[in-house]
Amino acid sequence: MRVEQGELRGVVALDGPSGTGKSTVARRLAAALGAAYLDTGAMYRAMTLAVLRAGVDPGDAAAVLRCAEAAELTIGTDPDAPDVRLAGEDVAAEIRGGPVTQAVSAVSAVAQVRERLVSHQRRIIGAARVARGGIVVEGRDIGTVVAPDAGLKVYLTASADARSARRTAQDGAAGRESSVDATRADVERRDRLDSTRAASPLRPAVDAVEVDTTDLDVAGVLDRLLDLVRERGLDHAAAAR
Ligand code: C5P
Repeated sequence: MRVEQGELRGVVALDGPSGTGKSTVARRLAAALGAAYLDTGAMYRAMTLAVLRAGVDPGDAAAVLRCAEAAELTIGTDPDAPDVRLAGEDVAAEIRGGPVTQAVSAVSAVAQVRERLVSHQRRIIGAARVARGGIVVEGRDIGTVVAPDAGLKVYLTASADARSARRTAQDGAAGRESSVDATRADVERRDRLDSTRAASPLRPAVDAVEVDTTDLDVAGVLDRLLDLVRERGLDHAAAAR
């Protein structure tokens, strides 16, 4: 089998609250480096959809875990087409809708659900490193729990105003109804729940580089991340230098 290697060697962990531009820049960074890409938020969202479809209360941890054990979740790592499926069904659009967004923090707070998904994520990361040399992984606990040995850990931040405006624009572009006020309330509610939960709360790893994206556009954030990748010697060109 021919092994296709991209330019990235190892793991880039990208964490931070919602609306900081994580998904957009993670995908673009992976594409720019010919690397794999993993959206761990999509995995928690897909589990949440399985819970809602089963009619289970997201606050019932035991029932949520049973759903997670039964769910057949698959997720792609191609940054140009990162599909996510439940029992083969493409659920990429549905997991971005209001009901899932409302319930996902409760599902992702269940420690045993996290254990299952973290194992799954580590398997995907291992396979991607063999197949493509490197992977960009985005989420809330990548630098702290999923890949603590990542060669580069970045923690993205942005002001609450900037994050709400970005989320509202994303919803509008995807044809979902939303207002800046409602989105701001949702973003703040999820950040509070994600940062205060007992299991793997959202927080920067001690060795993460913080990048404030409030006044940067996507190209500006991407440039900063590419610089960091090179500074850390994670690109193939560095190996030859
Ligand atoms: O990144 P996204 O907004 O799609 O994530 C949805 C939710 O999934 C987050 O609000 C958080 O509750 C959960 N999540 C998590 N750990 C991750 C990624 C996402 O708890 N690594």
